[in-house]
Amino acid sequence: MKWLPKMCTGEVITAIAMTEPGTGSDLAGVRTSATEDGDDYIINGSKTFITNGQMADLFIVVAKTDTSAGAKGVSLFLVEADRAGFARGQNLKKVGMKSQDTSELFFDNVRVPKSNLLGQKNAGFIYLMQELAQERLSVAIIGAAVAKACYDETVKYVKERKAFGKPIAAFQNTRFKLAEIRTELAVTQTYVDRCLELHCEKKLSIDAAASVKLWATEAQCRIVDECVQLHGGYGYMWEYPVARAYADSRVQRIYAGTSEIMKEIISRTI
Ligand SMILES: Cc1cc2nc3c(=O)[nH]c(=O)nc-3n(C[C@H](O)[C@H](O)[C@H](O)COP(=O)(O)OP(=O)(O)OC[C@H]3O[C@@H](n4cnc5c(N)ncnc54)[C@H](O)[C@@H]3O)c2cc1C
Repeated sequence: MKWLPKMCTGEVITAIAMTEPGTGSDLAGVRTSATEDGDDYIINGSKTFITNGQMADLFIVVAKTDTSAGAKGVSLFLVEADRAGFARGQNLKKVGMKSQDTSELFFDNVRVPKSNLLGQKNAGFIYLMQELAQERLSVAIIGAAVAKACYDETVKYVKERKAFGKPIAAFQNTRFKLAEIRTELAVTQTYVDRCLELHCEKKLSIDAAASVKLWATEAQCRIVDECVQLHGGYGYMWEYPVARAYADSRVQRIYAGTSEIMKEIISRTI
């Protein structure tokens, strides 16, 4: 209750620090440690690729409270950015998503009170698996929205741009590509909406969240790529929204768990 109201008003910016230089997909392999010392925990380690890393006031840090227990030794800690021993690295230069900051973080004997432990000790991995489903759904929603926006831009563009004396839209290839994209958008949106309904009913399973993330982000990248193609050279120019969407879209298949990890999660339930 201390943080949530300020997170809602935007007075406090947060970040979730899971990934490390040596491990991303294999979350149970994190090496950042949290060692008990009296009424405190002492955190040591480093993180990378952390969204909001430059701006965040508060971090949820994934750390090992039992280094011999794999996933069962993972806990979550709140770490305020003004704690002694905490440092931010540089704002990493990315292919896309340039308006979002992404950083390395360093923890050098960062002391936090035991009250900063989120939930139960050694239960962090379970919390992550449960809550990452919501993050994956939100990534899928972005995927459907970006793809639809690129389609709308492209429909406008191909009606205006002319080649061989007629609008690009008049070529059968253009019409067929747009027909395919619109169909794929409809399928994607319907599936995203269904998963959103399930989420609102608290019934979205971990594997369904992985499926919708996999489907919507792969569809996004296919659709945005076609939209760039239909723009010709202008689709590769930064001032055109589809160019920016092309650069921004690629990471959707990587963060919040890669497409391959989504397939791992889904296939475990088959
Ligand atoms: C812009 C951006 C923002 C991010 N924001 C955050 C954030 O806020 N917080 C955070 O904690 N992390 C964040 N990440 C990190 C992101 O979640 C990881 O990059 C991602 O989970 C992949 O981990 P990795 O980079 O270590 O790749 P690796 O795990 O090294 O994977 C490399 C390749 O191997 C494949 N692979 C790995 N394991 C398997 C397997 N079992 N089977 C098949 N293939 C496999 C992967 O799919 C991938 O293709 C962000 C990353 C980016 C790029």
